[in-house]
Amino acid sequence: MMAAPMAQDTYWGSFEEISKYNVSLNYAEKMWLAWYTYMQNDILATGIMSFVMHEVVYFGRSLPWIIVDMIPWFRRYKIQQDKIPTAYEQWYCAALVLFSHFTVELPQIWLFHPLCQFFGLSTSVPFPSLYTMAWQIAVFFVLEDTWHYWVHRAMHWGPLYKNIHKIHHHYSAPFGLAAEYASPIEVLVLGLGTVGCPIAFCAVYGNLHILTMYAWIVLRLFQAIDAHSGYEFPWSLHHFLPFWAGAEHHDVHHEKFIGNYSSSFRWWDYVLDTEAGEEASKRRRERKLAAAKAKKVQ
Ligand SMILES: [Zn+2]
Ligand SMILES: [Zn+2]
Repeated sequence: MMAAPMAQDTYWGSFEEISKYNVSLNYAEKMWLAWYTYMQNDILATGIMSFVMHEVVYFGRSLPWIIVDMIPWFRRYKIQQDKIPTAYEQWYCAALVLFSHFTVELPQIWLFHPLCQFFGLSTSVPFPSLYTMAWQIAVFFVLEDTWHYWVHRAMHWGPLYKNIHKIHHHYSAPFGLAAEYASPIEVLVLGLGTVGCPIAFCAVYGNLHILTMYAWIVLRLFQAIDAHSGYEFPWSLHHFLPFWAGAEHHDVHHEKFIGNYSSSFRWWDYVLDTEAGEEASKRRRERKLAAAKAKKVQ
């Protein structure tokens, strides 16, 4: 049992007070508890933490890609080699994404804590074990990828494409920052997969810590930004995990506009024959030819 936390005037005052009575907690857990104790308002505490985390991770992860774009040596790994984003394009994209974070995302983020509470997500300490976090995050990756595949595929249907998804396809050669360059409606509907899948999971399974949710969202942001980076390296993850999608998968989607609809994995596009790119077309052609031959033989 934890001793009742006492709020102090400063964050580190709360931290010290908590450290006195909760010796069994680790440093991160004490910091977490001190934050909620110091804030004295869970909605605000979760809201600020979520917003700051999103900004730090989004722009922090995009920055290395901006630097990579500035170094000519990396061109050899660029998928669409002749399409390097200009500084102006990057600034414009960053400004628009930032604008939508403040106008569209920020008001919604206040719903996050009540929503979590309603569905029973935990914000208490100690944290769940790494093992629990890992398998739950793996489940979220699979669920979100499924959601993303179907919603994204639907977004390519004429009216939805014209009115919503076209904005995201503004860049036919994407770069890291372009991951969230999209209509607010699209961000909301696709974001529902990222936030809704863990919440639905918690409603069914009955046990999920908000820290696991955060770790998942951080990894999902990494996935989205890297998938838009425009770079394919010999050390890219899909060379080791063949079902991982990565930049090679999503870059073709931006270039060709059709196919490769899923986010993290390749299986949906593979099974439902919606893969994009030269190799997939070749396979399709060969299959057709074989089918025609088989018909003739009959
Ligand atoms: Zn698309
Ligand atoms: Zn995209």
